[in-house]
Amino acid sequence: MKNHIINKLSLYLFILFFLSSCATGRFTPSELQIIQNINKEGRLRVLLVENTQDSIVLYKKSKSINADSENTELQNFVQALFKTVQDPNKPGIGIAAPQVGINRSVIWVQRFDKEGAPFEVYFNIKIKNYSGEKKDGMEGCLSVDNYRGTVARASEITIEYDTFTQQNKVEIIKGFTAVIFQHEIDHLNGILYTDRIQDKSLLVRTQ
Ligand code: ZN
Repeated sequence: MKNHIINKLSLYLFILFFLSSCATGRFTPSELQIIQNINKEGRLRVLLVENTQDSIVLYKKSKSINADSENTELQNFVQALFKTVQDPNKPGIGIAAPQVGINRSVIWVQRFDKEGAPFEVYFNIKIKNYSGEKKDGMEGCLSVDNYRGTVARASEITIEYDTFTQQNKVEIIKGFTAVIFQHEIDHLNGILYTDRIQDKSLLVRTQ
């Protein structure tokens, strides 16, 4: 009887923790489990669209997250996501959290429009406005192995996001960097660049 009450109590506590983590935009227990799988190089496994289980996560919409730089779990995750996009065996110029199994609005983008092309992290990012003409450009994706393809993207966008110090910012991005932002924000909406290519002959095998 006593055990039964304790079991019930722990179940309630678990549900309470789960609900409060959803409501405050903190990681859920299952997300924390994924983050614990950071390997000894400090990276997480990149999900691939050809894997059925992975593709379910890649095609899911991401939720917002509280961009609290004091949160150790978020610090660890953001660092691991950065190390993953910088993997010398498979380097990228941008990455989104769903690509490592976390459906939360976190992306890293290499800012080719800034001196030294630094990588920067963005939270709860949205595109507020598209402007300029659409231009065709070649894209690839860490989650779509061995392919590249031509996608038409807006040459200028206005983005709104939270910084790691929980400041909300609006910024206009132009050129190639705007393309990277559009690609990564698509990931947060469960869209892959290949979904934007109607004419599949524009998808080229690289290996
Ligand atoms: Zn991608």
